[in-house]
Amino acid sequence: MPPKRDLNKVGTEQSDFPILCETCLGENPYVRMSKQEYGKECKICVRPFTVFRWNPGSGARFKKTEICTTCAKIKNVCQTCLLDLEYGLPTQVRDAALGRINTAPTSDINKQFYTQVMEQQMANTSSGMMADTHDAQLASSAAKEMLKEMARKDPHYKRNRPHICSFFLKGDCKRGNECPFRHEIPAENGLEKQNLQDRYYGRNDPVAKKILRDNAESKGLTPPEDKSVTTLIFLTLPVCGEPDVRSSLMSACPFIQAKQIKTITTVAASHCAFVIFQDRATAERVADSLTAQGGIEVLGKRGKVVWGRPRPAKKAITASATATAVSA
Ligand SMILES: [Zn+2]
Ligand SMILES: [Zn+2]
Ligand SMILES: [Zn+2]
Repeated sequence: MPPKRDLNKVGTEQSDFPILCETCLGENPYVRMSKQEYGKECKICVRPFTVFRWNPGSGARFKKTEICTTCAKIKNVCQTCLLDLEYGLPTQVRDAALGRINTAPTSDINKQFYTQVMEQQMANTSSGMMADTHDAQLASSAAKEMLKEMARKDPHYKRNRPHICSFFLKGDCKRGNECPFRHEIPAENGLEKQNLQDRYYGRNDPVAKKILRDNAESKGLTPPEDKSVTTLIFLTLPVCGEPDVRSSLMSACPFIQAKQIKTITTVAASHCAFVIFQDRATAERVADSLTAQGGIEVLGKRGKVVWGRPRPAKKAITASATATAVSA
């Protein structure tokens, strides 16, 4: 059965046209779409929404919208791939760079209510600005520069290819060249472990983590091999005290809790601060996020972030001393 192309009907829901990124839309700007009102439940707010389906180009798989337009607007993401519309990046990367924390509810009932409230707010703002992106306007220019650097500049049409053939992976696809799916071994890049809710809310997203890590490493901020190092050093700070550094850090990285910071020591003479975290994972997350923000801003001045050095290894000395003792 050919898809129903009933685009003239007035949308009873909010969408007459989907909110899509260039990549998901495909190369042809006049792509024909089928539209199904209340076709599926939105994968975020679970309300029925208008589902669009289209073919983004020859050799591509059919794509469809996965979340409703309201949820897409709240996070400023594509309704299909859930990547940020401006930078083409996962929300976790964008929010780390903008020092933003997610406050959206998680239970289904709350989510529906929240989405309705947001919808009303958006209807009331004549500018049409997205509710959750107000603070993006206030983000530091350094963070925006960094986002531009990390952003995917061109449409990435490879993403529209058919999925990999599951029979091929098991070694017994009998369809050969007729097979509509891809016959290739998937790259182990963590993408297959992604989950839609996590990607939307920007948490535990392996792809985001990799982008942030790659960015930090390209800025020379490779975490030390010695996993016992949990210290970050902030350099070129203005004259400031421990409370200034602490409040700057807490507002730049709202995902950490006060108790995750073990100590902060400022050294006025050398304009730096030593920040020791409770655990390595926190230190790494802070390092990645601060690099994406272009450093740490304390009292209006932007400081540089570097990793602390490992302590001189006592164990190694003891071990070699023992070895000497044994050989002697
Ligand atoms: Zn929704
Ligand atoms: Zn997209
Ligand atoms: Zn196959």
